[in-house]
Amino acid sequence: MFLISYEYKGKKGWGVANPDKRVIYPANDIFGENTPNSLLGFIQDESTIKLDTYPERGLNMDQVKLLAPVSNPTRNIFCVGKNYLEHIIEIAKQDNTAQKPLEHPAFFSKATNTVIGTFDVIPSHEGITEQLDYEAELAVIIGKRGVNIPVEDAMDYVFGYTVLNDVTARDLQSNHLQWLKGKSLDGFCPMGPWIVTKDEISEPVELNISSKVNGEIRQESNTRHMIFDIPTLISILSQGMTLEPGDILATGTPSGVGKGFVPPKYLKKGDIVRVEVEKVGYIENIVK
Ligand code: MG
Repeated sequence: MFLISYEYKGKKGWGVANPDKRVIYPANDIFGENTPNSLLGFIQDESTIKLDTYPERGLNMDQVKLLAPVSNPTRNIFCVGKNYLEHIIEIAKQDNTAQKPLEHPAFFSKATNTVIGTFDVIPSHEGITEQLDYEAELAVIIGKRGVNIPVEDAMDYVFGYTVLNDVTARDLQSNHLQWLKGKSLDGFCPMGPWIVTKDEISEPVELNISSKVNGEIRQESNTRHMIFDIPTLISILSQGMTLEPGDILATGTPSGVGKGFVPPKYLKKGDIVRVEVEKVGYIENIVK
């Protein structure tokens, strides 16, 4: 199922999307009076839905503004850095660091002010950063509260998946020692176009992932190349740290980021960045 958040005629809503027909069925029309007022609320309820038939009528997807599926996360977006070997190598060449996998996942987070929707504008933050970069990532949406989750149970805690661009100011990322600042400027977390529930994606999750800037392919890989796979990431992150339904975990980016090129190919005003994950969808954001 494809669960989507949108704004229509100035009102926020959520519902079930039919991507082939480009139609959204508002949640109210499906679930009735007790519909949670946001997709996040629905996930937090830890309820599940089955939809045997779609309502007769829905909203045309082209008439609504697509919001990030979870547009107001309750806490920071969890991320993992250096989770694809080729990306470790491209960054290590620039920074003169070790060209080998880390022993433990490099967890960090992005603040919630970063979240923007499927086709929203990425601010260029001129005068603040001169090294604006993109990172194509598959994000996992947690569906169930849990702590100390064993690897073999970890997939039970997944609600679904979305596409995420871990936009980064490389200069700020290195200037401030911790990555938080360079990863957390406004608009630095485009997400969308929806959450694909996990039943739609076979496990282990092996999906083609790519990014393009102005149509030029920059990143092209498959999530099977993650160093720490999704169950391992969830298990380790949850050790002594309770995960909540609605938490978002970005699983790392493959090689081909702007910083990895010689000379680097950082984003500039007017660039259109498209991030795509097989079976999940794509987001496309212009830099302004
Ligand atoms: Mg990243």
